[in-house]
Amino acid sequence: MKVRIHGQILELCQGDITHQEVDAVVNAANCSLAGGGGVDGAIHRRGGPDIMRETDEKYPDGCPTGSAVISGAGNLPARHVIHAVAPVWSGGARGEAALLAGAYARCLELAVENGCSSIAFPSLGTGAYRYPLDQAARIALSTAIDFLNTRGRPELVRFVLFDAGAYGAFAAALEELSGNTPK
Ligand code: ADP
Repeated sequence: MKVRIHGQILELCQGDITHQEVDAVVNAANCSLAGGGGVDGAIHRRGGPDIMRETDEKYPDGCPTGSAVISGAGNLPARHVIHAVAPVWSGGARGEAALLAGAYARCLELAVENGCSSIAFPSLGTGAYRYPLDQAARIALSTAIDFLNTRGRPELVRFVLFDAGAYGAFAAALEELSGNTPK
């Protein structure tokens, strides 16, 4: 599913984030950037040890929840990995929505600052961190839509959903938010 926002493309696909040929892929990291399972495990396995070597050196204090940092992409087909830290879901009253939106917005900002014209996101927070999928999808997409509307960049924002359930949740949210007919 693909829509145009302010002339730029926002699209959804089902797949694996490590296979994306874009300028920047986003990692679902933890705040110590210490490596983990899910998206993080896949990125470091396929990308090789250079990525962790670089983040250890540049970001010894890790990255705060709700923010993101950037590195090279090792053996991945992308040029950069942007390591984003989503909040751990604990009921919704601990600022989770603002932190999740902040993580997405910071990734987009870093992509633009680093001259990336395309970026691919996984669904941050909805795995080990248990953020409810429907709510996370609305936050992810509304943050991307706001950013594209105000900044007009990057040219391509892709959400790569790992399974049909996540794809369905993002597709429903995108139809609701974009007001555009899916193409
Ligand atoms: P978090 O700790 O932020 O919740 P996870 O990596 O546990 O991050 O999961 C985030 C989402 O990414 C989940 O919906 C999970 O199914 C999905 N996912 C896991 N592996 C991949 C992958 N290789 N590519 C894209 N999405 C993935």
